[in-house]
Amino acid sequence: MILQSASDMPKKKAKFEEEKRIFLEHIQKSGLRKTGQRDLILEVFLRTEEHLSIEDLYWLVQKEDETVGQTTVYRTLKLLTEAGLAREVRLGDGRTYYEHHHDHEHHDHMICTECGKVIEFFSPELEAMQDAMAEKYNFKPTHHSLRILGLCQECQQKETNSLSSGAQPRVRVVAGVSKR
Ligand SMILES: [Zn+2]
Ligand SMILES: [Zn+2]
Ligand SMILES: [Zn+2]
Repeated sequence: MILQSASDMPKKKAKFEEEKRIFLEHIQKSGLRKTGQRDLILEVFLRTEEHLSIEDLYWLVQKEDETVGQTTVYRTLKLLTEAGLAREVRLGDGRTYYEHHHDHEHHDHMICTECGKVIEFFSPELEAMQDAMAEKYNFKPTHHSLRILGLCQECQQKETNSLSSGAQPRVRVVAGVSKR
């Protein structure tokens, strides 16, 4: 798993604070207590600009506090999702991943079924066409997630070089959202 360190720090700092506030409000609304473990999980999640499975997040949190259980990580991710800070993404390998949601621009995913590479993309044209389709069918969209499965450039090259493959898909983000 490749971890990207967060860039443009100062802007992020203010956003972190806002996200922490949103999380705290949500916890209180749910009648829960603010705990050190929940705070740690939130911190680790916000720091990591990536598509994380529950196991990935658990592993990252474990590196900082071994006493945090997987159930706590799972429940906290659910809370983050309810609070609108995380969103579930399915990348096609049967697992559920989570990514930042709050204040993040919408994007869709291309997923390499060979190595698990994820490319995030955004196309205003595609978005507009999806809206037009929904309108045509009198459908009121609340959200969507467009997934294109296939082979990344590297894996296409590997495939032409040798036809043997047995690698398990691993998922990592390599690209930020490119505008077109
Ligand atoms: Zn989209
Ligand atoms: Zn690939
Ligand atoms: Zn994404």
